[in-house]
Amino acid sequence: MLVSGSEILLKAHRGNYGVGAFNFVNFEMLNAIFNAALEANSPIIVQASEGAIKYMGIDMAVGLVKNFSDRYTHIPVALHLDHGTSFESCKKAIDSGFTSVMIDASHHQLEENVAMTKEVVQYAHDNGVTVEAELGRLMGIEDNISVDEKDAVLVNPQEAEYFVKETNVDYLAPAIGTSHGAFKFKGEPNLDFVRLQEVKRRTNIPLVLHGASAIPDYVRESFLATGGDLKGSKGVPFGFLKQAVEGGINKVNTDTDLRIAFMAEVRKVANTEPTQFDLRKFFAPGMQAMQKVIVERMQILGSANKI
Ligand SMILES: [Zn+2]
Repeated sequence: MLVSGSEILLKAHRGNYGVGAFNFVNFEMLNAIFNAALEANSPIIVQASEGAIKYMGIDMAVGLVKNFSDRYTHIPVALHLDHGTSFESCKKAIDSGFTSVMIDASHHQLEENVAMTKEVVQYAHDNGVTVEAELGRLMGIEDNISVDEKDAVLVNPQEAEYFVKETNVDYLAPAIGTSHGAFKFKGEPNLDFVRLQEVKRRTNIPLVLHGASAIPDYVRESFLATGGDLKGSKGVPFGFLKQAVEGGINKVNTDTDLRIAFMAEVRKVANTEPTQFDLRKFFAPGMQAMQKVIVERMQILGSANKI
């Protein structure tokens, strides 16, 4: 059943577990995500970026998710706009049937971020949709980074408290040291869990972790084994994901892991069966590999068997 983001995330907030927010760009990714939810008995957030919406068409993106949620009515699912860049973009998603939106104005000055977020929150809440915003800059932090440098890029807990009160936003993505993509950390992985706990204490709302792909060894290896190049890639280790959930993270954005797992299988078929050109022979194993990664993630985050 299609529900608002808050309906899923407030339960996770009260129950101290995390729910995966999985990105999709086509039928195959969505199929793998829903099959994983069925297998693990887990609520899900499926999310599309503005780029994914451009690729699929917004009506197709919404239509696909509605079809799946009508088929599996017992699975709570929220359809989320990932990194909305403007009020117009969020409004279009809300008007088209999204049940959750992110307004990402984190690169603006605080007051501008507050103003943009407020405008989206008002329109979204009038339409039964809930909202995510972001504070701080998403980037990896080094072991030897100074306190001043940390303060310059990571979320300020006091600011987070003010921001949530001022905007009435439903869930917040505080920058604590993760970054997008497959190369998250130069040295050892490093996240600021103390800062995270302080943000949770001061805001007491569901929190969101961006750039949360783990790139497990077996996923990396399967990609490298087919001649793919991901050398030097580093994700957020499973132990860190668990610690983040314990510290108050409830929405865990995951995209890179899904892409790598899927494409490793596509590469494998391309390498081993040069005469193959039936799309299904490439995509079916891709979906299976992706489903396995997602089920495992649901177990780690604690959303399995929470329906
Ligand atoms: Zn993100």
